[in-house]
Amino acid sequence: MKTTLLSLILLLLIPGVSLRAQTIEGCAKNRNAPPAGAFYWPPDTEVKVYFFRNMFTPAQKETLQDAMELWTKAAKNSGAGVSFVYAGETDEPVACRSCLMVTRREVFKNDHKHYAFFYPLQSSHDPRLVSAWIDLDVATISPQAIQGFMAHELGHGMGLGDCTSCKKKQTIMNGFPGVNKDNGLIEPSACDLEVVRQVYELQRRVAGNTHVETRVD
Ligand SMILES: [Zn+2]
Repeated sequence: MKTTLLSLILLLLIPGVSLRAQTIEGCAKNRNAPPAGAFYWPPDTEVKVYFFRNMFTPAQKETLQDAMELWTKAAKNSGAGVSFVYAGETDEPVACRSCLMVTRREVFKNDHKHYAFFYPLQSSHDPRLVSAWIDLDVATISPQAIQGFMAHELGHGMGLGDCTSCKKKQTIMNGFPGVNKDNGLIEPSACDLEVVRQVYELQRRVAGNTHVETRVD
């Protein structure tokens, strides 16, 4: 019994120790690191990504896939294990689990504040994404801008919130200076990945504790 109890205590303590030990020095929320967002893909999810037909040129599709590849590598290195896999083109919304649809519309002309949107689909009170949708603006056409916006919107699905108060070139979650401009980065920064690591480490720890409690009962 004592051994079991000790193991349980160690299980609960060790993640906390490693969290502090591995935290990157100098990443400060709302200064050079984004705040955590309200949702994220569950750890180790393979997200199937569909592009709407006739919305993107072949070169633009390649750029979108570059952003997906960069996030897949980053997610692996930061312990999230989420991967973005191109699933083809579609003419209409696809109803499936772990799916992400990417399309274009007049975002800024209708909204006057945003250039792109990430729409999460979740079960109520559960931060884990079931599926999601990204709207890019029809005027976002330069490769740098497309990659920057796609990397930013994918970042929302990785548990990152916006950081308009962050200094330039510190986070992909910064605001954008225009509909066809990047925000200084086209991939997540070290501090972005530090926040992703913390979000997913906490998520895995919570899932692990639930498992331990279930076994004890
Ligand atoms: Zn955003």
